Amino acid sequence: MDTIQITLPDGARREVPRGTTAAEVAAQISPRLAKEALVARVAPSNNGGDGELIDLRCPLESDVRLSILTPKDPDAIQVLRHSAAHLLAAAVLELFPDVKLGVGPPIEHGFFYEFLREQPFTPEDLERIEKKMRELAAQDIPNERKLLPKPEAVELYRKWNQGFKCELVEEKAVEPMVSFYTTGKFIDFCRGPHIPSTGRIRAFKLMNVAGAYWKGQEGNPQMQRIYAACFYTQAELDDYLRRLEEAKRRDHRRLGQELDLFSIQEDAGPGLIFWHPKGGLVRKLMEDWLRDELLRRGYDLVYTPHIMRLDLWKTSGHTDFYRENMFGAVEVEKADYQLKPMNCPGHILIYKSRLRSYRELPVRLAELGTVYRYERSGVLHGLLRVRGFTQDDAHIFCMPEQIEAEIEACIDFAFAVMKTFGFGDYVVELSDWDAKHPENYAGSPEDWRRATAALENTLKHLSVPYKRMEGEAAFYGPKIDVKLIDAIGRPWQLTTVQFDFNLPGRFGLEYVGEDGNRHQPLMVHRALWGSVERFFGILIEHYAGAFPVWLAPVQAEVLPVSEKFSEYAKKVTGDLKAAGFRAHLDDRNEKLQAKIRDAQLQKIPYMLIVGGKEAEAGTVSVRHQSKGDLGPRPLAEFLSDLRQQVDSRVS
Ligand SMILES: [Zn+2]
Ligand SMILES: [Zn+2]
Repeated sequence: MDTIQITLPDGARREVPRGTTAAEVAAQISPRLAKEALVARVAPSNNGGDGELIDLRCPLESDVRLSILTPKDPDAIQVLRHSAAHLLAAAVLELFPDVKLGVGPPIEHGFFYEFLREQPFTPEDLERIEKKMRELAAQDIPNERKLLPKPEAVELYRKWNQGFKCELVEEKAVEPMVSFYTTGKFIDFCRGPHIPSTGRIRAFKLMNVAGAYWKGQEGNPQMQRIYAACFYTQAELDDYLRRLEEAKRRDHRRLGQELDLFSIQEDAGPGLIFWHPKGGLVRKLMEDWLRDELLRRGYDLVYTPHIMRLDLWKTSGHTDFYRENMFGAVEVEKADYQLKPMNCPGHILIYKSRLRSYRELPVRLAELGTVYRYERSGVLHGLLRVRGFTQDDAHIFCMPEQIEAEIEACIDFAFAVMKTFGFGDYVVELSDWDAKHPENYAGSPEDWRRATAALENTLKHLSVPYKRMEGEAAFYGPKIDVKLIDAIGRPWQLTTVQFDFNLPGRFGLEYVGEDGNRHQPLMVHRALWGSVERFFGILIEHYAGAFPVWLAPVQAEVLPVSEKFSEYAKKVTGDLKAAGFRAHLDDRNEKLQAKIRDAQLQKIPYMLIVGGKEAEAGTVSVRHQSKGDLGPRPLAEFLSDLRQQVDSRVS
């Protein structure tokens, strides 16, 4: 008999007849595996590659290494989601036979399929489609692969009047035979693989419809993308939907409005932030902390202009590699000026303003520097992607032998930020160059080797776990990125510590060394928060708007139980203010319950309720935003406790 040899992941080998399918191998191993299997991965026995994913019913024709993938495997889940996208298209075609089909890939947490249709899909349509999908799923329809010669494939779609699909086959089908998948009546030009049948698609939910240009190109027809969440089990789907709800509850755009922290004004333009008094106060507190730390850690604070000659940006190279992110130039007295997209050239001019000696190095110039970048309107997002923002920027100019200590100090500073602002978890990434293509980078291999080693040594020395990202560095130098993990487990890119082998040469930076000769300093860009706007947005979501007491715009709301006690309430408020706290008296003629509810909604950390008993005893009844009723306390005692909490910045 003609046999082939299958090597399983545990190293076990099996002789099977040529043409045996992965599904059959799974059945031989265990009925349970056969039931769980979604897709298979094969690689030729004689090479060490990762292999490729194939359908379970695809016949095996040569010696292979074979893994049978179950829902535990993230690759298998993506295959399931892709099959679910086909199921969506099949359901839509049953209900709306005239739609034109676009593409339908799996995505993170689910999938989409896109359609061209004159009328928009309504929420009721989505309900009907989802119902139809469940019907088709329950029929456990097989997903079958078919091969057609290319001309026949084009003809099939032409007859069916599916222009986008014709286009795709023409462009993408390279082999003479074109791969298709059918799910009942539905047929799709698709490379696969797919799960064997629709019955395993159970935990999904159609989420929304969004417009997207065909192939993402402006000017092309506008497709309607139906997005769906999809998991293997209902429990996973429920968990995901719960997390989405939680994220919605924390959305900084909604909370920013409810808590009156900031706004974006159509009259002023998109992506430009107005900080309202309460948001402005939080910003002041954030910046005060940062400036104090900068000075304590040996930085110098500088300020640079928002607009500078365009020529400066030619010297820096920004007009070559960054132009599409810059606002247009402004002409003044026949010279072009440029709104700054970055602070680096400004700091470089300060460094260059006189000859530097090695004795002065490192020079650390820090600025809360406001920059303007042309972000496309489609990517603007609340405080997180904006067109005008203030970076907590700094540039360090130093000698090679100082670099490790400087990087270490940057990382230490980043950790201080996380601790102070209440973040415990983080992920660190070290981005290196693609050593196979040195021609794409500024700096010599020696520069790169030394700088990357400095970054790596620092992380090792601090025992910080990190991931190495080969080929992910910018062209001008390697970097360390710190992503913090927020209260609901979402990662946020924050701190960057970035070498620059490009700008010191372009601007001819120098220092006089101990040897009396001129040398080029190393330059590092670093930002801890990224920008004040973005970090504020992250803080709002992390705390769900309930800022810790040291950051809260109002720390204590004084609530008299009735007008009779307004004198005592005024005294309490006055004492709080005199002690340096941010207190507010709610003297509205409202019921106490209503006042408590409003203070809760404003997420004020402490409510101090005062009535006859309190006035007589010189106490306040303390209620905490999340801990609830804490009972009566002498005012002086409350004040000293509050002082302690604010000073230690407990979150
Ligand atoms: Zn497909
Ligand atoms: Zn910079």
